[in-house]
Amino acid sequence: MSGFSARRGLWWAEQVPLLSVAEFVGTPTYVYSTQGLVERYQALDRALVSCPHLIAYSVKANSNLALLKLMAEQGAGFDIVSLGELARVRKVRADMRRVVFSGVGKTAEELDVALAAKIALFNVESASELVMLDALARRRKMKAPFAIRVNPDVDARTHRHLATGSRETKFGVPVTEAKALYAWSRGMKGLRALGVDGHIGSQMTRVAPLERAVGTLARLYRSLCADGFGLEYLDVGGGWGIDYQQGERVPTMQTFVDAVLKPLRGLATTVVVEPGRWLVGNAGVLLARVQHVKPSGQSAFAIVDAGMNDLLRPALYQAKHAVTAVARRPGRAREYTVVGPICETADVMAKAVRLSGLQQGDVLAIHSAGAYGMSMASNYNSRPRPAEVLVEGGRFRVIRERETVEQLWRGETL
Ligand SMILES: *Cc1c(COP(=O)(O)O)cnc(C)c1O
Repeated sequence: MSGFSARRGLWWAEQVPLLSVAEFVGTPTYVYSTQGLVERYQALDRALVSCPHLIAYSVKANSNLALLKLMAEQGAGFDIVSLGELARVRKVRADMRRVVFSGVGKTAEELDVALAAKIALFNVESASELVMLDALARRRKMKAPFAIRVNPDVDARTHRHLATGSRETKFGVPVTEAKALYAWSRGMKGLRALGVDGHIGSQMTRVAPLERAVGTLARLYRSLCADGFGLEYLDVGGGWGIDYQQGERVPTMQTFVDAVLKPLRGLATTVVVEPGRWLVGNAGVLLARVQHVKPSGQSAFAIVDAGMNDLLRPALYQAKHAVTAVARRPGRAREYTVVGPICETADVMAKAVRLSGLQQGDVLAIHSAGAYGMSMASNYNSRPRPAEVLVEGGRFRVIRERETVEQLWRGETL
């Protein structure tokens, strides 16, 4: 975790006890650490100094405006995948020259709005999208800066739902087709080839597939430059894995950086990295309060007020999040299955969690919940979505109010 620690029997976010946040704001609540976020961003920025670079934070990991603003203030760019995300980065007055647009299903409206906003780069994923982009840009008498997202056909060795770099997935185009698209774009007035792009998956815990994929991108980049294309960006995507549980072994940041930079040696380019999870995942927790303790054979269920609608990762990816009590109680530890209130068997937050003296009303912290937590939250079971809190030093503020029951039917009619 970044910015969180256990001291004197309590869990803290910087200088704020998580118990105080739960008491003032209620539960379930996401809590983020400013320091955790900023330290990670700056460490990555420093690690990349040897090479011109753009850190384009992947907005879909966590799109709260306060966090986007924090990133923008640090100098981050953004990787967006929708009109909504474009609107969000505009709302925080991000520099559009540092925004790249990814995604396999961009609509004409999305492309056109992004053209008008003069973003840095369109990461194009199909011939059809490239044709559409050309037509829209010509209508605006513009040249759309684009990169083709290459599918390098490598196995990212991650959960099957998180792998995007193999041939069978919908993402990107094979290298040979990419070459044909670059060649075709030469004759098109609305297009300007400006980069090469790839992203092979998320929560990668090995770097060999990444290095191989970047090698493929670099070869294509060199051959296009040799053919006279004036490319500027080599976008290697995101997907860097984090540790979700204590003792879990994941590559260090420097290992990821080396895997990216090694194949690019000697190449004059701005390397674009699109980390989402790596920046925010370990800078956030989800607080939940125990509603009931229910014995079950040798074990017991701790039924909390956060469920799969608040944090989908365990149900969707079989993700294993560490869970701790925010205030330690004396007594012998026993094992609990921490579950939510949702009417689904998959609504398990964590298994085999060891807690001592657990009582109704205790507050638990579900760790490493900063990425793909709130951004994937839904209203399933008509549950208002959680509040979000940002800690800075000894202070905290609500950066998103808890949704109200009335807001659940906004836009509906009787
Ligand atoms: C989701 C996504 C990312 C970010 O992935 P992380 O695993 O959060 O780093 C980056 N680039 C693209 C194209 C993505 O779809």
